[in-house]
Amino acid sequence: MKRIFAVVLAAVTGAGAMGQGDPAVVDNIIQLGKSQNQTRSHLETICEQFGGRLTSSSHLERAQAWAVQEFKNYGCQNVHLEKWGEWEVGFDRGSSGQVGRMTAPFLREFQFTTPSWTPGTKGLQKGPAVMEPMSMADFDKNKSKFKGAWMVMMPRTGEGLPTKAVRDTVLAAAIKAGIKGRVSGSRGELVLTGGNFNIKWDTRPKDIDITIRKSDYDAVTGALQAGQSALLEFDLRQSFRKGPIALNNVVAEIPGTEKPDEVVIVSGHFDSWDGPGSQGAIDNGTGSSVTLEAARLLCSVGVKPKRTIRFILWSGEEQGLFGSRGYVKDHSAEMDKISAVLVDDGGTDYWGGFVGLETQRSFFQPSMDALMAAFADMPMQFRAQEKMPRGGGSDHASFNAVGVPGFFTIETGVADYGYIHHTQHDKLEAAINSYLVQSSTAAAVTSYNLACAGSLLPREPKSGG
Ligand SMILES: [Zn+2]
Repeated sequence: MKRIFAVVLAAVTGAGAMGQGDPAVVDNIIQLGKSQNQTRSHLETICEQFGGRLTSSSHLERAQAWAVQEFKNYGCQNVHLEKWGEWEVGFDRGSSGQVGRMTAPFLREFQFTTPSWTPGTKGLQKGPAVMEPMSMADFDKNKSKFKGAWMVMMPRTGEGLPTKAVRDTVLAAAIKAGIKGRVSGSRGELVLTGGNFNIKWDTRPKDIDITIRKSDYDAVTGALQAGQSALLEFDLRQSFRKGPIALNNVVAEIPGTEKPDEVVIVSGHFDSWDGPGSQGAIDNGTGSSVTLEAARLLCSVGVKPKRTIRFILWSGEEQGLFGSRGYVKDHSAEMDKISAVLVDDGGTDYWGGFVGLETQRSFFQPSMDALMAAFADMPMQFRAQEKMPRGGGSDHASFNAVGVPGFFTIETGVADYGYIHHTQHDKLEAAINSYLVQSSTAAAVTSYNLACAGSLLPREPKSGG
C-alpha cells in the first residue's frame, strides 16, 4: 500500500521526469526512521559524555573520535578526520564542578560564564566583593581593600559612568593591587559565552573576567549599596592547551554506485560554545545527531545511491565557519560536482523545508511529499527565491559563496532558540524528540533522493557570464 502511494505521489509531482530514489527504499527509510530512530541517543552521548565542544578543546577531540567510530559502526566508508587548520592555543573547560556563588550576606548560586580562552581559578577562590571605583582618586582612598577581592564592575554603558580611559586605568591599578578578578552583570537573565581564539601562547590572557546573570548581579550590588559586606566565591576549571592544536572536520561517506565523484553533503557543526551549564545540545548537538542518524538510517537500509552521500561534522563554525570554509578551499577543484549541501544548525525544531531557486523545487518536492505523508503534523515548504541565500551565519554560506547550492533547513516548531543559543540553557532537556525523529528522517530521505536525481541540482546562472 505504502509503496503504491509513493509511486502515485511521484507521478503527481513530476519526480519521474527528474529521476529520484527508489520509492520502496524511501519507504524503508521512513519506516526505520520512525520506528527505530536513535537521534536522541546520539544526542545524549554527545551532551553527557563530551559536554560543550569548543573548537580546540579536548572535549571536541574526544567527541570527534567517537563520531568517527560511530560512522564506521554504521557501515560508512572513507571515514576520517580531515584537518582544516591549527590554532596556537587551545582551551578546555571542566564540564562539571564549575562554581560561582555569593555566600554572604546570604547564599545565592550564580548562573555565570567567562570568555573561552581566558584563565580560570586555582581552586575555590573566596573573597569580598568590592565595587569598581569611579576614579583613581576613589581607588587610592580604598587601595587596601582590593587585594584578594572580587571587583564588581559597573554596567558597561549608561549615564554617569567614568570614561573608558578612566575605567581602564582603574582596572589596571586594581589588577596590580591583587584583585582575584572582575565580575560583571549580563544585560538580562541570559549569560552568553563567546571568546577570542586568536591569541598567542606567550601573551595569553592572564585576568579572570566573569559575567553573572543580571538578577545575581543585582543581588550583589544591592547588598553593597545597603552597606553590607558581600562574600563571593568562584571555582573556574578552565585551562589553556599549548598548541599547535590540529583542527578537523569529521567526514564519512556512502559511495555512489554510478557517479561516485558527484556528491550530496549532509552536515551540521559539531563544535559549540562551552559556557558553564551548556552542553552544546541545541547548538549544535541536534544537527550533529541528525547527521549521524541520517547516516545510520541510510546504511541500515542499505541504500545504493547513484551519487556519493557525504556526511560532515564541521568544526570552527562558532568562530567564523572555519571548518566549512577550509573544506571549500581544500576541495576547490570538486565544487562543480557537489550537488547540494544540507546544513542542520537551527536548533531542535523539525525540517520545515528549504530555501532555494525555483528550478530546484522539483528536486525537493518528492522528498517533502513523502515526509509530509509520514509526519502529518509537520508541514514542509520549498521557498523559492531569485538567488540562493547569501550569508546566513552557518556552514551553508561557505558553499553558496562559491556557487554551490547550500541549504540551511527551515527549522520549524515551538522551540525558543534565542533562550538557548550560546547561553547557560543549551542543555539536553531543551531537545524535542519528535522533531529530531522527523529531522533525521528528512535528512536521510532528502539526501538519498538528491543523490539519485536525474542530474545535479540546477545552480544560479553565473553573473556576467
Ligand atoms: Zn550553530
